[in-house]
Amino acid sequence: MSAIYNFCAGPAMLPQAVMQKAQQELIDWNGLGVSVMEISHRSKEFIALTEQAEVTLRQLMHIPKNYHVLFMHGGGRAQFSNVVNNFLGDNGRALYLISGQWSSSAVTEARKLVDESQIDSLNIVEKVDGLNQVNLPDLNAIDKDYRYVHYCSNETVDGIEIFEELDSPWPVVADLSSTIMSHDIDVSKYGLIYAGAQKNIGPSGLSIVIVRDDMLKLPALPQSSIMDYRVAVEHGSMFNTPPTFAWYLASEVFAWLVANGGVSAMAEVNQQKAALLYDCIDSNPFYKNGVAPHNRSRMNVTFQLVNDALDGEFLKQAEKAGLVALKGHRLVGGMRASIYNAMPLAGVQKLVNFMNQFATQHA
Ligand code: PLP
Repeated sequence: MSAIYNFCAGPAMLPQAVMQKAQQELIDWNGLGVSVMEISHRSKEFIALTEQAEVTLRQLMHIPKNYHVLFMHGGGRAQFSNVVNNFLGDNGRALYLISGQWSSSAVTEARKLVDESQIDSLNIVEKVDGLNQVNLPDLNAIDKDYRYVHYCSNETVDGIEIFEELDSPWPVVADLSSTIMSHDIDVSKYGLIYAGAQKNIGPSGLSIVIVRDDMLKLPALPQSSIMDYRVAVEHGSMFNTPPTFAWYLASEVFAWLVANGGVSAMAEVNQQKAALLYDCIDSNPFYKNGVAPHNRSRMNVTFQLVNDALDGEFLKQAEKAGLVALKGHRLVGGMRASIYNAMPLAGVQKLVNFMNQFATQHA
């Protein structure tokens, strides 16, 4: 059977080598004769795994010593409420930058938890010549005292990415769910980073939180212990039974990243993959993309067929060719090719060949 390339936005494809290793280890991990899913999270073997996972992640992202790394439940969305509950006790205020569906969902969640007056939001996307473009505000010119400013570096649904790091007088809280480890960032510029795992890390349900230690001094609201960052730090992310299999797979993905040159090597290939795909879209009048070049996502390439009556046929033929999960998000329609770290260049080359051929056949 020829290779299937899975362009799903998440849960997304994981590195093939990791999946093959996991398959081999499924019923006998670490020579224990049982799966990693079946052993105690307090066993010395599992603790060693978690310690190694953290060391590798710190190495990959150059995480400074004054940051804690947490492995938590609840995926990306859990952090929408966790940041509010952990940092906005005693009437603190926060600013949310809205660049698309996910940052907008984060605001909705935040406003459910505290008084609406505590959550300010700013829409930072405008249409310029018919294209969506991010216009970052001058945060230093805003004369308000916020506990944090929240933004989403990559809008997975809309295909909009912000490549600049924010220049902010307040701690930056960033949803990096769909960009984490796709290119290097300077962690020291952030108060807290979070990411649902199911794109560049591992299985869904797990979220990674990287939090600067001084953030934990902010007053918290009463909340569930398993979602309290301080409790998570105190208990090594094991106040209750953690998602052990997801943690194991994440550790394997981290090891794979190191073996394949780390984040900068990923960034290089990610840039090539995205350029290949956007060149195909731009050079072919059969396709279009509505995002300004400067903000085009390197992880989630959204595009439309100019004749959208052909959408169904496009998806059917693509699937036949082994190119699956290209349908755009239900809220925006069209197509979306998610090309995270695990998507090989060959997958994007195959997609581009298919798109050119499809356009020729249906012109
Ligand atoms: N934030 C971003 C940028 C996402 O892409 C997603 C999911 O795709 C989420 C948050 C929500 O993640 P989860 O479904 O793990 O809660």
